[in-house]
Amino acid sequence: MEIRRAKHSGARSWRRCRADLLDLTDLTDLLDLDFPLPELPDITIYIEALSARILGHTLEHVRLGSPFLLRSVSPPLSAVEGAVVRGLRRLGKRIVFELDGGTFLVLHLMIAGRLKWKPPSARSAKAGGRATLATFDFDNGTLLLTEAGSKRRASLYVVIGESGLADHDPGGLEPLAVSTSVFAERLQLERRTLKRALTDPRLFSGIGNAYSDEILHAAQLSPLQWTTNLSDDEIARLHAAVKSTLVEWTERLRAEIGAGFPEKVTAFRGDMAVHGKFGTPCPRCGSPVQRIVYAANECNYCPTCQTGGRLLADRSLSRLLGDDWPRTLEELEEQKKVRSAKC
Ligand SMILES: [Zn+2]
Repeated sequence: MEIRRAKHSGARSWRRCRADLLDLTDLTDLLDLDFPLPELPDITIYIEALSARILGHTLEHVRLGSPFLLRSVSPPLSAVEGAVVRGLRRLGKRIVFELDGGTFLVLHLMIAGRLKWKPPSARSAKAGGRATLATFDFDNGTLLLTEAGSKRRASLYVVIGESGLADHDPGGLEPLAVSTSVFAERLQLERRTLKRALTDPRLFSGIGNAYSDEILHAAQLSPLQWTTNLSDDEIARLHAAVKSTLVEWTERLRAEIGAGFPEKVTAFRGDMAVHGKFGTPCPRCGSPVQRIVYAANECNYCPTCQTGGRLLADRSLSRLLGDDWPRTLEELEEQKKVRSAKC
């Protein structure tokens, strides 16, 4: 993937050097980088597409393709069969199906779980392969749950009542529904980096790795800025960026999907400003987008717009390069020249 992404960048030889240095042999890491966890805009669009199809319809039968998907024991899955779907809602990054009698299905797609809709005419077709974790047969079509890769991380729970549902709520504030003062209070509960605070499901609902990169770029704040060290103006800017980014992306995805079903929640969107855009020019200032690589994820940012030109330490690279790790864009440019010659 490093090589594939490097094609989109001018600094190819430097990138190849970095790809050699980074241990990217763990396929799980690659999978996580390629499959973003669906976040608020993605889940919202799934729910809208599902509502248009299954609201008021009967869930006739559920077939499990993997024994690992269903994580609850009681009530059994058969408790929802024959029930009418009365509502759909988002709970953090989960999709909740409300059925007759106050029973809920709580579905967490995790990283690689995806949904597909098959109209009745396609129902006789083979319902997916090994990647199919479950099929939900409704009176008007079938919903397929698939998960790429070999790790079975998507989960499904059957719960009873709002109190049962509350057990699945991580407790994050709905970022689009709160005032800036409430947002600020939650943000500053603990001394955290902005990246970590925004993506903590106990603090904020529905924000993950991709949209937090976009939010921080829009707010022109460093992902490693401490939450306890922000001015009122910076907090207001961050909150405005949270709202505008999530609303704008929800609207974009809605327009893109139209009356269709969102079968492809893609890895990196070409029109994102920084997320997944390592090495490409920042749309605001033209500086190459940088990144911090974690064990199974990466954070992208623009040094000119967000960190006063400083490069943030990349743990895996800084360990390898030690004092050689560039601290500024200028140093990076210099090192790129040297390394291009060496590689
Ligand atoms: Zn920039």
